[in-house]
Amino acid sequence: MAARRTPDVLPTSIRRLVASAIRDIPDFPRPGITFKDITPLLADAAAFAQAIDVMARPFLGSVDHVAGIEARGFILASPVAYHLGAGLIPMRKAGKLPAPTYAQSYELEYGSETLEIHRDALAQGRKVLIVDDVLATGGTAEVAASLVEEAGGEVIGISVLLELASLHGRDKLAGRPVHTLLAV
Ligand code: AMP
Repeated sequence: MAARRTPDVLPTSIRRLVASAIRDIPDFPRPGITFKDITPLLADAAAFAQAIDVMARPFLGSVDHVAGIEARGFILASPVAYHLGAGLIPMRKAGKLPAPTYAQSYELEYGSETLEIHRDALAQGRKVLIVDDVLATGGTAEVAASLVEEAGGEVIGISVLLELASLHGRDKLAGRPVHTLLAV
């Protein structure tokens, strides 16, 4: 089953504003990868505020926690959590979280990675929104969702700024509500 698509009701002006504030960096971090750099968006007060608003809005009133994925996911997840009145849970790369963790490894568009969550991060059944900057192959979001569930949480959705549609990340997230501001 394909992942559910959020209805496309976003004004074109917001999409244009956000799209113009994300730049392509060719051959970073290695040859052949076009890196989507969100730092101009973060520096633009209007674009940043609009992006956070759009990423959070579909989940108002429905989540207890926002789980942000290291590192750029933290930057977006923090204001999304504040916006939703939810707590923030950092999901970090291997060896960074100080208390006992659940960990899973996976393949990235450019290499392999391990993601961790604190074992005691969530009370049983807590509703969690996962936030990251880019959805590429979907491996990161899939592992994040699986870790949230391992820790006892319920994944309400996955909200990302930008989806690289040609990499079909949604296919890995079958049945999970995936909300993306922009798809390229
Ligand atoms: P994936 O697991 O393949 O969906 O990759 C998503 C994760 O890798 C996110 O945490 C992104 O920050 C990062 N990522 C993957 N591809 C890119 C890209 N082309 N530009 C920027 N970040 C990327």
